[in-house]
Amino acid sequence: MSDKLDDQPVPRWLAAACTGCGKCCIDTNYMRSLPATKSDIRRWRREGREDILEYVDFVGAGVYVLWVKEGVESSRCPFVRKTRGKPTFHCTIHESRPEACRGYPLTAGQMVKLGCEIVGEIEAVALRISFAKK
Ligand code: SF4
Ligand code: SF4
Repeated sequence: MSDKLDDQPVPRWLAAACTGCGKCCIDTNYMRSLPATKSDIRRWRREGREDILEYVDFVGAGVYVLWVKEGVESSRCPFVRKTRGKPTFHCTIHESRPEACRGYPLTAGQMVKLGCEIVGEIEAVALRISFAKK
């Protein structure tokens, strides 16, 4: 993977192509890199979301990491659920999800590493455009 791809910002409108495959919520390595912002912490405290706060670990110097409970890192987000009757996943704290999740995907490299299915949607659109031009 090139550094250039890692740095490529992704336009926000692409999030609309999300298929709900859930990889961004169940990928073990990605989970272990998710931060919580100070603004997330303030919001969860204000909303009394102890159920979320118990999965946040303060590692010092103003840095909080998700999803760690009593020193044990979760291999997947504790708030992701399989959608009944569908091959998709959904977020059970969508209205109060962390900023890291609101901002995903940030870069093209992040999507490729995760196997995010938005990449396939982009490729399909690019193919349709290239055929339409012929
Ligand atoms: S909080 Fe929601 S969007 Fe974020 S990782 Fe968990 S299930 Fe996914
Ligand atoms: S990995 Fe991509 S397509 Fe899958 S749920 Fe996450 S954003 Fe959507």
